[in-house]
Formats: sequence, structure tokens, C-alpha cells
Amino acid sequence: MAMQKVYEALRWLGRQCLPLRCLVCDDPGQEGLDLCAACHADLPWNDHACPLCALPLPVDEPAAACGACLRAPPRQVGATATFVYAPPIDQLVLRFKFHQDLAAGRLLSQLMLQAVPEMAPAPLLPMPLHGRRLRERGYDQARELARPLAKELGVPLWTGLCRSRATVAQSTLDAEARRQNLRGAFAVRATPPPRLTLVDDVMTTGATLDAAVRALRRSGLQQATLWVCARAP
Ligand SMILES: [Zn+2]
Ligand SMILES: [Zn+2]
Repeated sequence: MAMQKVYEALRWLGRQCLPLRCLVCDDPGQEGLDLCAACHADLPWNDHACPLCALPLPVDEPAAACGACLRAPPRQVGATATFVYAPPIDQLVLRFKFHQDLAAGRLLSQLMLQAVPEMAPAPLLPMPLHGRRLRERGYDQARELARPLAKELGVPLWTGLCRSRATVAQSTLDAEARRQNLRGAFAVRATPPPRLTLVDDVMTTGATLDAAVRALRRSGLQQATLWVCARAP
């Protein structure tokens, strides 16, 4: 805990001393962001999407529930993805996730705050990493994203969900194997509040988030919403 405080103080100090730099093209940043105005204007905002699963929709279709959500309504009551998982957001996410680039994480979090979802703010639950992954990586990307969001919105972080075992990367599996992989993957170790907003970096099929919501619902959660940085199209 003390080390965390030291890191935070060093990061704060670093931000005061270093000029803002666009993390995409290296031009000077603007308006408190490590992003230039031109790159900001080109961001792939996900502003036309299914309100239930955040799937980006074609512009000529209404922004209503997508076919998949109509056939099988999801467990969450709403989902927002700030961006489509496309350049340059995909690169920023990868740098943040696998290359210790915490500046990229900070930028993504600041951008998420530029389009706060309309759904009522509820306590935020950062999707947990398994303890072993956390030790390998040294930080938990969902928590790094969610902490400034909670602070800025004045809502608590709720961290009563944990990974009960490490799962294989979902991207390597087919649909049935994904479901098997996630069975019993989460444990709820405190009574959840009635409403929670689950926060994660990327949503692909949504199977992992769904497994988390299912575990929480079993423990008494009444209403879940999702807020992710980027949604795979
Ligand atoms: Zn730029
Ligand atoms: Zn949908």
C-alpha cells in the first residue's frame, strides 16, 4: 500500500514536469491530454451502438437493440463502450495492457470521462484480474481505468468480486469452450450493492462480463450496467 502511494506521488510529479505529448503521433498534446487535436478529432467514438451490448451498428440502422440482444436479452440492463476497438484506440489499449504504458491508460480513462454514459452512476466494479496475472503484470488495467472515473464521478469503487481461478485467454477458444472456461471463474466475497457498473478495457463477445454479472446476480445484485473503453465490432 505504501509503495502504491510512492508510485502515485512519482507519477503525479512526472506529470507536472513533462510536457503533454500526443501518444499517437508525438505532436504536443492539448487540453490536459497526451493527445493532439488532430488525433482527438479522428478517434473512433462508438456513438451509434446497441444500448444493451454496445455493439457498433451500421449508420443506416436505428441505434436500438441489436439482433442478438432481441433474440436473447443480456443480463445487463445497458452497456456503453466509449470507442470502437479500432486504430488508434487498439494500439493504446495494447500498450497499456502489455507494455506497462500507464500514460496510455491515463489517457483512455480521461477520454472515457469525455462521454460519460447516460445510465445513472452506480458504484463502479473494475473487472478483476486473477492474482497470478496481477503479479505478472504488476497492475490491474481495469482498476487503473476505473479509479479516476470513480473519483471524478464521485461514486465508490466496489471490489467484492474476484477471480477464483485463472482462465485461458478467451480469444483462443470457440463458443462452447469459452463457456466451459468461464464456469466458476468468479467468486463474490461481499454482498453487492443493488446496482453496479462493471468497468473493463475491452469487450469482445461479452462472455467474461456476462459470467461476472451472472455470479453477482446470484449474490443479490439487482441491476448491472457495463462501461468499457472499447468494443470489438
Ligand atoms: Zn496526434
Ligand atoms: Zn446488442
